[in-house]
Amino acid sequence: MKDVNDEERIIGAESSEEDETIELSLRPQLLAQYIGQDKVKSEMKIYIKAAKKRDEALDHVLLYGPPGLGKTTLAFVIANEMGVHLKSTSGPAIEKAGDLVALLSELNPGDVLFIDEIHRLAKPVEEVLYSAMEDFYIDIVVGEGQTTHAVHVPLPPFTLIGATTSAGQLSAPLRDRFGIIEHMQYYSVDDLEKIIQRSSVVFNTKIDPEAAIELARRSRGTPRVANRLLKRVRDFAEVKGEEAISLATTKHSLHLLEVDDEGLDQTDRKLLRMMIENYGGGPVGIKTIAANNWLADPNNGQILTYPPKLNKYPQTKEIIVETYLLVKTLTKPLGSCPSSTSKNSWKDILEILATASNEVKARAETNIVIMHNPHD
Ligand code: ADP
Repeated sequence: MKDVNDEERIIGAESSEEDETIELSLRPQLLAQYIGQDKVKSEMKIYIKAAKKRDEALDHVLLYGPPGLGKTTLAFVIANEMGVHLKSTSGPAIEKAGDLVALLSELNPGDVLFIDEIHRLAKPVEEVLYSAMEDFYIDIVVGEGQTTHAVHVPLPPFTLIGATTSAGQLSAPLRDRFGIIEHMQYYSVDDLEKIIQRSSVVFNTKIDPEAAIELARRSRGTPRVANRLLKRVRDFAEVKGEEAISLATTKHSLHLLEVDDEGLDQTDRKLLRMMIENYGGGPVGIKTIAANNWLADPNNGQILTYPPKLNKYPQTKEIIVETYLLVKTLTKPLGSCPSSTSKNSWKDILEILATASNEVKARAETNIVIMHNPHD
């Protein structure tokens, strides 16, 4: 059995090791270089300006949205704009409360602690974070038996920037301690085109404007995917000896990479076909599909499980597939709404959510927030 791992998909939004090395050079450093996310940017500009004027640490910031949309990049940009250092870690990496204490005690006044995947923090760690975020102190228990006592450790004022793909999975006490909560949106084709043009300068490659637009159209609204596709297409163009990446080469290489006109790959198409053929177009939860079906890879006959059962973050994977297909309105919120739900029945969705279980709410929140809200 082979997993359809998001990291292996050319259009997967999760970061791979290869991405991490190129991303360092591609990351914009300042808000002025950060393309798109205009609402988030204009709000952050005001908060940063106000904090600097008061000479205080910026309020804690929660950034949420699907992977690859620039949350980590924005955290670094915020620290740069504030003129402070950033210490970066992730929820699963902080195993014990002691690890968090060590991280916090290394901060200088005003510094940023960035915690990626903050929804995956262990509960005892999260509890230590409450007083650290609210009043800049931590109480740690030292000693054993009769010598046990609490030590009150004051901390420098700092800014916590948390990033999550799933704001619904954050506990209410933690969420409430963020003064600034920003929702990252999928990027428009125009913005992705600008990102591709900027990245091609960093890669020292030229790209024809029509080729950049074509790449942008097929990048699933996600800068990480855009940069990855650009890198692959550049290889094809180089082999052909092109001076600038052409539209023809872009189309040809994306065809070979099996990324279609809509930015969908084989996995998406299989999922959609299965929903249509086996479940009358749905609704069907992705877990039902995974439990009852297997997908055979037509190229090599290997059996694929979908979604990957053994991968590290099954929930994250589900959300990636569902949200992008939802954005394209090719699917409706899976598992949470009746088949009659269309993108126009926003009220229905809210009513269903009011009685739904927490798990469904968490999943649906990520799905629904990116749908068109008719009340906007
Ligand atoms: P996330 O933390 O949301 O998974 P990242 O911040 O790691 O996403 O972004 C992935 C890559 O996409 C980064 O290396 C960066 O090059 C690019 N990127 C993301 N957002 C932008 C943006 N607004 N402008 C330019 N490049 C961006």
